Amino acid sequence: MNVKFDVDDLGLNVISGTGSLSVALICQRCTESLVIDLDIEFTLSPAKNDEAAEALPSYYDAIELDENGEVNLLELVEEELILAIPLIAKHEPSQCQAPVDSVWGELPEELEKPNPFDVLKKIK
Ligand SMILES: [Zn+2]
Repeated sequence: MNVKFDVDDLGLNVISGTGSLSVALICQRCTESLVIDLDIEFTLSPAKNDEAAEALPSYYDAIELDENGEVNLLELVEEELILAIPLIAKHEPSQCQAPVDSVWGELPEELEKPNPFDVLKKIK
């Protein structure tokens, strides 16, 4: 996990980062475990309020400051991770244990996303 703090040519604070991690999910077809690798990448600029957020160049995503005027980095990374995790995880067809004639439309109950805090522990 790499996070960089910078000030750009316009004098804006920029937080950029990249990271990769493995997440253990449950295959929604055969219900066996499935490990996927995620790569995340973000470029954000802190904004005090909506107005400031709208004034940002479009290549930055606005991030809201908390009540202390600070950025909560853990929350930030967590949000990026949640966005990166597929809602419905499945094996590649060649690696899936499910019988070929299984019904595709039916989903097991474990549709919940993994707890991001569990996921964070696995960050490389
Ligand atoms: Zn599977």
